[in-house]
Amino acid sequence: MSAGLNLAQLQAVHYTEGPCLVLAGAGSGKTRVITHKIGRLIETGLHPRRIAAITFTNKAAAEMRERAKGLIGKAAKDVLICTFHALGVKMVREDGQALGLKPQFSILDADDVVGILKDAAGGTTDVATARQWQWTISKWKNMGYDSREALAMAQDDNERSIALLMARYEERLTAYQSVDFDDLIGMPLRLLRDHPQVREKWQNQLGHVLVDEYQDTNATQYELLKLLIGARGHITAVGDDDQSIYGWRGATLDNLKKLPLDYPQLKVIKLEQNYRSTSAILRAANNVIQPNPKLFPKTLFSELGEGEPVRVVDADSEEHEAERAVARIQGLRAASNPPPDWKDFAILYRANHQAKPFEKALRKANIPYKVSGGTSFFDRAEVKDLCAWFRLWINNDDDPAFLRAVTSPKRGIGHTTLGKLGEFSTQHKLSMFGSLFSHMLPAVLPTKAHDSVMEFGRYVNDLEYRARHTLGAEDSRAFLADWLKEINYEQHIYDSEDSETVAAARWSNVLEFCDWMAQRAGGQVDDTSGSTITSEKKSLLEVSQTIALLSTISEREKEQDMVILSTLHASKGLEWPHVMLVGVTEGMLPFKLDDDNGRQQKVSDETAQRLQEERRLMYVGITRAQRSLAVSWTKRRKKGREMVAAMPSRFIKEMGLDQSTMREDPREKLRQLRAEFARKAAVQPAAS
Ligand code: ATP
Ligand code: MG
Repeated sequence: MSAGLNLAQLQAVHYTEGPCLVLAGAGSGKTRVITHKIGRLIETGLHPRRIAAITFTNKAAAEMRERAKGLIGKAAKDVLICTFHALGVKMVREDGQALGLKPQFSILDADDVVGILKDAAGGTTDVATARQWQWTISKWKNMGYDSREALAMAQDDNERSIALLMARYEERLTAYQSVDFDDLIGMPLRLLRDHPQVREKWQNQLGHVLVDEYQDTNATQYELLKLLIGARGHITAVGDDDQSIYGWRGATLDNLKKLPLDYPQLKVIKLEQNYRSTSAILRAANNVIQPNPKLFPKTLFSELGEGEPVRVVDADSEEHEAERAVARIQGLRAASNPPPDWKDFAILYRANHQAKPFEKALRKANIPYKVSGGTSFFDRAEVKDLCAWFRLWINNDDDPAFLRAVTSPKRGIGHTTLGKLGEFSTQHKLSMFGSLFSHMLPAVLPTKAHDSVMEFGRYVNDLEYRARHTLGAEDSRAFLADWLKEINYEQHIYDSEDSETVAAARWSNVLEFCDWMAQRAGGQVDDTSGSTITSEKKSLLEVSQTIALLSTISEREKEQDMVILSTLHASKGLEWPHVMLVGVTEGMLPFKLDDDNGRQQKVSDETAQRLQEERRLMYVGITRAQRSLAVSWTKRRKKGREMVAAMPSRFIKEMGLDQSTMREDPREKLRQLRAEFARKAAVQPAAS
């Protein structure tokens, strides 16, 4: 496990006796240390099952699993490589009974949560307010409070009423046997804190825990980690304080400061060589981050040579900026032989909505692209419909899933019936599905309505039975096809869309989704749900159980040859040969710190902190680039509904670029055009 590692990396990989913190700048091989250390730990005799490596996204987990497989072969499949949330699912599935949760609980997504909150508040609230409540409750949960503690702490009437609502929300979740996203961290924490046998079990099971992107953990995650590793502290954390970009979601650099205090025996290792970027790129990155206060002094150098100068591109509008980005991609492809792949290019921006003009320009140029971290496949209505059915046949108590499934497609069970059923179930403390089989239900429903709901209930039970006994890809495919026919889902989609093209696209999503489910049942797809990779056949019921997690926190990721469009946040930890940072316009990055366009405001503490986080975001963006980097800004930008004149971001100046090489050189463009012309001429068939 020592090939391709420098001395400091080797030290980090070989130190397995106690807690270890690798603190280093971007591209210095921190993630590489984690992968190699997994191998090293196995070499020292630790069983792969006793190793957990925690990553920030499912995509990062998948990538690490792939690399670990390359390094150590089959043993990699037993290592638990997953996100904090996936680890949480595993823990709650295994031990949630101690908290009164059955193993087949449901995981609610943000829409479900908002719906439940609206409903719990009486149903007349607008979505924006409900989202605000959700945000506050989530914040409390991330601080480790339940509704009682939140009520005790509440500062004003508004907070008190949200805390009371939170109590009702908690009750509903228990009744539905459901958890939300924050519970996936909070519940494992409570399990370990309040249940000594559970704590002992996990501490014994895990011989070493490795954590990537440690700077972005929050306080609850830190507590969870501490309880997982116990006093022996067999942990390897790697991180970079300069890349902490989730402060707005509760991540705290305190976790970096606490580690040496809580573990005095902590070994701190620094890495200084960057293996990713050219010197020109790295210099710009170092310059940008320089004004931020330093938690730990760091130096970073590269031996990859000076490389191409970093380019600054100005544009009149976002559309113009997008055209220039496309021209740059085409130019760079034309300039080298063989041309770089599409997937070697990334366009990175601050916020999701900025992707639009770039998508349009790429489509126009016939360039394949993929928006990463945008609207996930699982957010599509048709996929959510199908997931609701899966959730219901796994967990009959999941009322939100019941309501969605029973109306998708509509089956003659109307609002009145559902309203009565809801009342009945509350009165008798049953789930809605559970109420269907109550002998008292016929007394409150007209015969026809009762017959329809009973038919639905029996059908779901029947599906559950069939799904349990459907094994492997082929059978699953057949089962899913039958089921879609039985519920007449294709017709439902065509009936609910005016445009046939839209309906066709939605139906093809359904087919793609079912095919993907079937592949998982066949064991052909890596399971990113926290359980290990397996090539064994699974039952469709088992597959459905893990889907909930994917549907809430990830999209499927396929390696395809496409230009990547991504937010800066979602680009963390990744690298591309050619990167374009777009929208580097004052007011967008940094984001609206002073919307007076440069006029000096009194810089409050909070503003200063926000500016620091924005600067780290810029640093993350710059350091994604391996060989070429262009930074673009627009002379006009949206402010509310108007367009206003705009300036280049202060970060462009801070990069300290050499003025003479900053702008894109027209001669370069000419060279690229010539090269493209020559290439095209060379591939023309002689006869034509
Ligand atoms: P980030 O802070 O962006 O997450 P990182 O510190 O995790 O970066 P890695 O992604 O592990 O850095 O490594 C950056 C690149 O450098 C990768 O392509 C990796 O394979 C390569 N690399 C790391 N260490 C070495 C080494 N010792 N020799 C050669 N290449 C290396
Ligand atoms: Mg990394």
